[in-house]
Amino acid sequence: MEAIPAAAREVLGRLTEGGYEAYLVGGCVRDLLLGRTPGDWDMTTSALPEATMALFAGHAVPTGLRHGTVTVRAGGASFEVTTYRVDGAYGDHRRPDTVRFTSSLTEDLGRRDFTVNAMAMDAGGTLVDPFDGQRDLKNRLLRCAGVPERRLEEDALRIMRALRFSAVLGFEIEAETDQAVHHMAAALEDIAAERLREELLKMLCGADAVRVLLEYPDVLGVFLPELLPAVGLDQRNRHHCYTVWEHTARSVGHIPPEPVLRMTMLLHDLGKPACMTVDEAGEGHFKGHAGVSHSLAKQILTRLRFDNDSAAQIEKLVKWHDAPIEPAERAMRRALNKMGAEGVRALLAVKRADNLAQAPAYLGRQQEIDALEALLAQVLARDDCFSLRQLAVDGHDLVALGYQGREIGQKLRWLLDAVVDGRLENEREGLLAALRGGEEEVK
Ligand code: ATP
Ligand code: MG
Repeated sequence: MEAIPAAAREVLGRLTEGGYEAYLVGGCVRDLLLGRTPGDWDMTTSALPEATMALFAGHAVPTGLRHGTVTVRAGGASFEVTTYRVDGAYGDHRRPDTVRFTSSLTEDLGRRDFTVNAMAMDAGGTLVDPFDGQRDLKNRLLRCAGVPERRLEEDALRIMRALRFSAVLGFEIEAETDQAVHHMAAALEDIAAERLREELLKMLCGADAVRVLLEYPDVLGVFLPELLPAVGLDQRNRHHCYTVWEHTARSVGHIPPEPVLRMTMLLHDLGKPACMTVDEAGEGHFKGHAGVSHSLAKQILTRLRFDNDSAAQIEKLVKWHDAPIEPAERAMRRALNKMGAEGVRALLAVKRADNLAQAPAYLGRQQEIDALEALLAQVLARDDCFSLRQLAVDGHDLVALGYQGREIGQKLRWLLDAVVDGRLENEREGLLAALRGGEEEVK
């Protein structure tokens, strides 16, 4: 088992010496028992927030007083120390605004979502586990603490948290909780887009995301209805042995667990159902699907309030995921010009994942992608020019030649196009000569 850091033990010790109860709680206890490294060390205590503030005077900030949370600094780290509490009434499937402090640790553990998240541990490593979270941990099961329907109804975000923890920890959702997850899914409509997005991204980046995607499209479809037509859709195409949804889910599992990449795979084929045609031979075709996926992606990313930068990257990757890149230096420079080095790297990862989720007979494409990656490395290592920043002349040179205003940008782009295409060398004198009158020759 991982050790409890000295600074965390010190904070717990200070509280107990002050006459209060104090425990590690939630995710860190779960992760300690699983041998995973906890992300943070949350604590729960019988001390009221004011008492915690006084005990750690000068090292404590009241970060969430309304919910009883004080952030304590110790040993260069921060710890969230929250007073034992129970949640007040739930109005609309969302977290309550009011909370009530309590002196009972068991009550505090009872408000928590899953049994494996409802354990507390004291500084000496002794466990308090009223919901038998240890048993579920051993059986790798996610089970609501309490009656599943009621707990999910109180706060519908827990439905997405169930999917997230299931994917991240690789735990199945226990049968009764699972039933409630499906049954209560519609309540996700009341949850703020940002919170859904954060849980979705964590879920997609989980080691077991493929299983969760395959098992819960109905749940995800509550806030991503665009994916529902893909579920069960037979592609009737020799490249594909899976339905559109199964291909999508598998492709997610074949790309590195980074939010932009995983989200791209989730969205890349959502345009297929609307574009499907079947020819006389009975074979399915999806002409133009990347463009339709691109529009759907835009719509979804806006609705889920993705930041502009991530949204732009994902949209580009979805749009180009199916466009062939010729295995030639010129084509590679063009791609680099359009997407930048990171963009092309990501696009090749997308193409690789897409192909890995196709019929085994077409896995030969992997070698084509290997070759494109080698070509990319070569073009980058040689520092070929593909951006204005690398061009051997700049705006000052054009001003010196008498160009003005918008003409400057236009001429620079014209030179860059010629260099990317290999019609001109990226060499200062030659580029200036081309500007001074050799334009005809270049064309
Ligand atoms: P992570 O490793 O992602 O931080 P975590 O279990 O610590 O996982 P947090 O979202 O940080 O998850 O929440 C901390 C703890 O607070 C949880 O372990 C759980 O006990 C409780 N909790 C958080 N959100 C909810 C919720 N919506 N309903 C009930 N309990 C919750
Ligand atoms: Mg946490």
